[in-house]
Amino acid sequence: MITDAHFSPRPLIGIFGGTFDPVHLGHLACARYVLQHCALDQLQFMPCHVPPHRASPGVSAQQRATMVELAIADEPAMVLQPLELNRNSPSYTADSLALLKHSMPASTLAFVIGMDSLSYFTKWYQWQRILELSHLIVCQRPGYSHLDGDAPALLRDYAASPAALHQSSHGKIIELHNPDFSPSATAIRAALAQNQQNISELALPVLNYIQQHRLYQS
Ligand code: ATP
Repeated sequence: MITDAHFSPRPLIGIFGGTFDPVHLGHLACARYVLQHCALDQLQFMPCHVPPHRASPGVSAQQRATMVELAIADEPAMVLQPLELNRNSPSYTADSLALLKHSMPASTLAFVIGMDSLSYFTKWYQWQRILELSHLIVCQRPGYSHLDGDAPALLRDYAASPAALHQSSHGKIIELHNPDFSPSATAIRAALAQNQQNISELALPVLNYIQQHRLYQS
């Protein structure tokens, strides 16, 4: 393991995990903010596997991935990371990060989450191992605060400034102070189920794809 004392700058790769069901402008705004404010070299969108009984009816994992690709087509620093989609069972973030670390040994990893996820982060499988493999970048999310749940204790123990991402190999939590990005996938799915056609919280190519394939419609 590289120690901070001997650390020299290495490529910094962000991993943005989520269901992306569907990917929306809140995810994209968050991704752009993270890239800019943390000076990442690349941000990889990693859609998770969703068990068939929990998946949105009629929306396949491949379609969620295609929507991510459509949304980031004009973003040179963003790519799709298909690791979890190619498995046929749910994967734990800690295990996925270990595989990614193995395939990119020369890079520093930073896992990106919203404040809603930080509030219960210590319930995640092997959460300490996640911090041994990567940093954590936390975006503000409307309705959630750094005073909720696990967040105060985690920030007390691990908080650092974005510069720390380039100075150490893992184990820092960066709380960003981004403006509110209001979109929510749950609200977007509900609007689509009511056959609302003009949803401004989706990238246009994603909205077109949803309409073309009649996704999320009841
Ligand atoms: P839902 O709205 O149903 O909760 P979601 O968009 O949060 O869905 P995911 O696709 O799993 O679901 O989100 C991926 C990651 O993006 C999560 O870490 C989540 O906290 C974060 N995120 C999603 N929307 C926003 C937003 N508007 N602002 C900041 N972070 C967000």
